[in-house]
Amino acid sequence: MAKNFLKRFAALMAALSMLLLAGCNVENIGEEPNERKEKAAISVHFLDVGQADSILVKAPSGKNMLIDAGNNNDGEKVVSYLKSQGISKIDVLVGTHPHEDHIGGLDNVIKNFDIVNIYMPRVTSSTKTYKDVIEAVKAKNLSINTAKYGVKLDLGDGIDATMLAPIGQSYENLNDYSAVIKIRYGNTSFLFMGDAEKTSENEILNKGIDLKADVLKVGHHGSDTSTGTSFLDAVNPRYAVISVGANNVYGHPNKSTIDKLNKKGISILRTDKDGTIVLTSDGQNINVSN
Ligand SMILES: [Zn+2]
Repeated sequence: MAKNFLKRFAALMAALSMLLLAGCNVENIGEEPNERKEKAAISVHFLDVGQADSILVKAPSGKNMLIDAGNNNDGEKVVSYLKSQGISKIDVLVGTHPHEDHIGGLDNVIKNFDIVNIYMPRVTSSTKTYKDVIEAVKAKNLSINTAKYGVKLDLGDGIDATMLAPIGQSYENLNDYSAVIKIRYGNTSFLFMGDAEKTSENEILNKGIDLKADVLKVGHHGSDTSTGTSFLDAVNPRYAVISVGANNVYGHPNKSTIDKLNKKGISILRTDKDGTIVLTSDGQNINVSN
């Protein structure tokens, strides 16, 4: 009797577990891929730091990258924005080139977060701003990786992030040392130019790399020294983001750059008009919010 009962109990449990497993499978097929799609997105934040650059990239893997950190006075603003985004560690920190409007707030960022990898081009500057960055790097026992063509950046699975410049060893103009970064997520891509000017653009063009990108962070705050016609044709973006301060003394963005973008029907987003701009991509579509 007891034996029989045990047998039947075991059979019942086996049947139940089969049902449970089958149930889970049905659920997996029905819901999980959609959930995954919703969660997996990359967001790119163009911080409003006036006449300067600071861009946060949050990858679906949880890794993140900060490209530049605004002027010296923007350091605290950048730090609190990152904290508001729940960030405690920066996986990839890039100082595109040693001008104050790009590396000014970098020392604050280095002091306030765990930094996994920091990249800067191989060029120095005699400014106090640059020295402050180097001191912050030393105080954290970090070593600077060279930003240059071909460097792969680790933002986790599903994201392809590569440096396209600088390509050359030395330039007359500090802007042309700018680290240029292209990232691809699914069918969408972003190209970040720093302050790279036409010399660097032409070198990149000559490499014959695929430059096509949905979003172009326009070089050098929309100055006419950047965004050459053939370069823009090769990138052929849907969105152009210009990081620029209202009524800046440089007259950025230059009218000729704006005209060029308008002529191609590209949507222009500007931090002086739109404030901080956030672009989100699920790998297929890009959404804009600010
Ligand atoms: Zn700049």
